[in-house]
Amino acid sequence: MERFVLVDRDGVINRRIVGGYVTAWEDFQFLPGVLDGLALLAHHHIQTLVISNQACIGKGMLAPAALENITRLFVRQIEDYGGSIGGVYYCPHRPEDACECRKPKPGLILQAQREFGFSLTETYVVGDSLTDVAAAEAAGCPALLIAEDGAALRMAASPALAGVFPNLIEAARFIIARSPSSISDTASSPDPHG
Ligand SMILES: [Zn+2]
Repeated sequence: MERFVLVDRDGVINRRIVGGYVTAWEDFQFLPGVLDGLALLAHHHIQTLVISNQACIGKGMLAPAALENITRLFVRQIEDYGGSIGGVYYCPHRPEDACECRKPKPGLILQAQREFGFSLTETYVVGDSLTDVAAAEAAGCPALLIAEDGAALRMAASPALAGVFPNLIEAARFIIARSPSSISDTASSPDPHG
């Protein structure tokens, strides 16, 4: 079966805008280790799906077409670097819309699962907040957090939390080490990242 990882966008792939949103491509800054981490996952035949709340759409701060443009540009950069983005799922709603897709609800994860058919219990959700962990838990997925203060988050989080890492490349190595086909992959093609 093809394997996937579900990755939050702001705070995991790109730098979070504190108290705001990425509303222009100039504001989209890849975090350290992200392009390498996504390329490493693709090298191990793990496809990345992006799962992200973007209430800026529902609040009228960003047009859907402008969000699509930002998406097209960051996906192209990841793919130019050797990564593989199989799909990008956004919740465009505001918290008060009470939709089924805004994390911590599992709607986006379940939508991706219906489209790609992966095993929820074997698919990691990588986020930067307890909201991501709660969405993973509600969907039945294991969760990984990207965070500086790992110890504090580990205390606060749910049993779904399987690990806390300082950046995406460390999380990618963890996922690869726990993937069933990683042994045969390593035997057939040496990993250039060590
Ligand atoms: Zn929604």
